[in-house]
Amino acid sequence: MQLPILAYGHDILRKQCDEIDPSYPGLDKLIDNMWETMYGANGCGLAAPQVNVPVRLFVVDSKSTHDRMDEVIREDHFVREDTGIVETFINANILDESDDAWIDEEGCLSIPALTERVKRPWSITIEYFNRQFEKQTKTFYGTTARMIQHEYDHTEGVLYLDYLKPLTRKLLHGKLEKIAKGQIKAKYPMQFVK
Ligand SMILES: [Zn+2]
Repeated sequence: MQLPILAYGHDILRKQCDEIDPSYPGLDKLIDNMWETMYGANGCGLAAPQVNVPVRLFVVDSKSTHDRMDEVIREDHFVREDTGIVETFINANILDESDDAWIDEEGCLSIPALTERVKRPWSITIEYFNRQFEKQTKTFYGTTARMIQHEYDHTEGVLYLDYLKPLTRKLLHGKLEKIAKGQIKAKYPMQFVK
């Protein structure tokens, strides 16, 4: 089932989310719905708080982006051994991030019709549980690492807007107000702040 995505302005997008265990009610269904919602919105990642569930859960598909990307551009976005991931992250915890940082364009399904250049570490090491609740510790690079960081941030109540320079943020104020009120529409179901 495709779920409505909360628009910028909802308090739940600013919550530090709770850890879950395998007995979390309806977990399997929730994960299925999150994938369907993400793909239905043409996204490459989605976090549970974006569908109104404040738990430490997110999904990332960097494989579609990898496969679509022009080979020359791909060299700057993916390391050779990374052909992209399609992965569910539960109770993720970033253990380490590189000093090396890079800037790339980012958008967010909760903030439609807006992209901004965001600086992030090039690589991260993260521990998490996968959908089968098997513990994983992995290092990711480039675009894959960026997508994971973006979704991980959602479970911490952080939005990519928080990394922008104060002046850039200020200039976006009016547009963000419009997004919160539903005056900027997306091509997927959203829930706006009334
Ligand atoms: Zn987002």
